[in-house]
Amino acid sequence: MIAEILAVGTELLLGDVHDTNSTYLSQQLAQMGISVCHRQTVGDNPVRLRAAIRLALSRADVVILCGGLGPTPDDLTKECACEELGVPLVLHEESLSRIRGYFERSGRVMSDNNQKQAMMPEGGVVFRNDHGTAPGCAVAKDGKHLLIFPGPPRELKPMFEQAGKAYLRPLCDAVLRSHTVRVFGLGESAAAAMVAPLLDSENPTVAPYAKAGEMYFRVTAKAHTADEADALCAPMLEELCRTLGSAVYGVDVPSLEQAVVTGLADAHKTVATAESCTGGLVSERLTSVSGASAVFSTGVCAYSGEAKEALLGVPHDVIAQTGTVSADTAVWMARGVRARANADIGVSVTGSAGPTPCEGKPVGTVFVALSAEEGDFVRALNLTHRTDRDYIRTVAASHALDMVRKALGGDPVGERYEDHCE
Ligand code: ATP
Ligand code: MG
Repeated sequence: MIAEILAVGTELLLGDVHDTNSTYLSQQLAQMGISVCHRQTVGDNPVRLRAAIRLALSRADVVILCGGLGPTPDDLTKECACEELGVPLVLHEESLSRIRGYFERSGRVMSDNNQKQAMMPEGGVVFRNDHGTAPGCAVAKDGKHLLIFPGPPRELKPMFEQAGKAYLRPLCDAVLRSHTVRVFGLGESAAAAMVAPLLDSENPTVAPYAKAGEMYFRVTAKAHTADEADALCAPMLEELCRTLGSAVYGVDVPSLEQAVVTGLADAHKTVATAESCTGGLVSERLTSVSGASAVFSTGVCAYSGEAKEALLGVPHDVIAQTGTVSADTAVWMARGVRARANADIGVSVTGSAGPTPCEGKPVGTVFVALSAEEGDFVRALNLTHRTDRDYIRTVAASHALDMVRKALGGDPVGERYEDHCE
């Protein structure tokens, strides 16, 4: 079954409002096994709105409209949809009394034009609105189904969840299940090349995505039941994990920081962070995970050379001889914070995030270090192909988290660091 989503509202076209409804609906429909082949955005203009509905009805079995159910004359979705389908609008008494009740409860007077919101397609199904005035609806004609939801997400989501899904479920012939393999430390093309033969699979499908230095592989299977779809995914997930090895930090794990916090908790270990160019990003990411307090007590943001000496005990000579952006300084920062926080693992980041080079080191030169019982390790990152500060900081913070993850897993963390400058 093929669906098409139509988001209605001039504010969406102007970019004033971000169209989160279409994203939400796409995700929900995908989970139900309904394929969304097109999405449209159209302004509050009856001619263009009707043309958009006509086009959607010509190529989809289910057309889902959102927005434009308000009481004002520019809200035209229902009217246009019914004209296109050739179904009249009739007054729905129950909706009218609900809208009246909504106004009474909030101590406001209902204006005449709110009656327009109680006009419903004849022979259709009305979706009650528990969070606003405009009810939604569904109407079927000639094998096509048209569903209409209010624009405000806080009204649309519960309505879709309750009434929309109940309407669509009997029409579904399959369920889709997706699982995500999350990868760090392999470039997009390298990772895709490693698993190239798997990308041709049809059920499940395997789709690669890249985002801020990370890679995901989404494995999606279609079957009659969720269990059958999961069973189709399982061998593919195994194969991806086997091929990509320790670069995989989790399956269906929401983030690298979640994998790190879970890994630390399972190993009963703690981490402390010392950050320069990431300015606290590593500690921010760790503390965004609920349960972080069990594994994280201290994060030091030591931005200046003086702060690195005073707060982390980085020897003055190390900074004088190698600079603040160096493997040596990074290692001493990790050692310093580990000792001061009495943590099992100390991790640090120092680098040149741009836009101007630091100490003559090119933008994108970053050192990430880890200090633990097993020794000290450092990664020298060369992100000089990128000059945007946010990217460099995000990727640097991800490397710090990845080093902790690798240390916990007994995998190679980075170059072993031997003192040569004390
Ligand atoms: P109302 O009764 O509030 O007028 P409506 O069904 O007519 O509801 P719209 O007028 O289209 O809906 O939109 C109302 C508000 O809902 C918008 O200002 C916007 O904040 C939000 N909204 C509308 N469409 C979307 C969308 N596709 N994604 C996210 N938010 C949206
Ligand atoms: Mg409106």
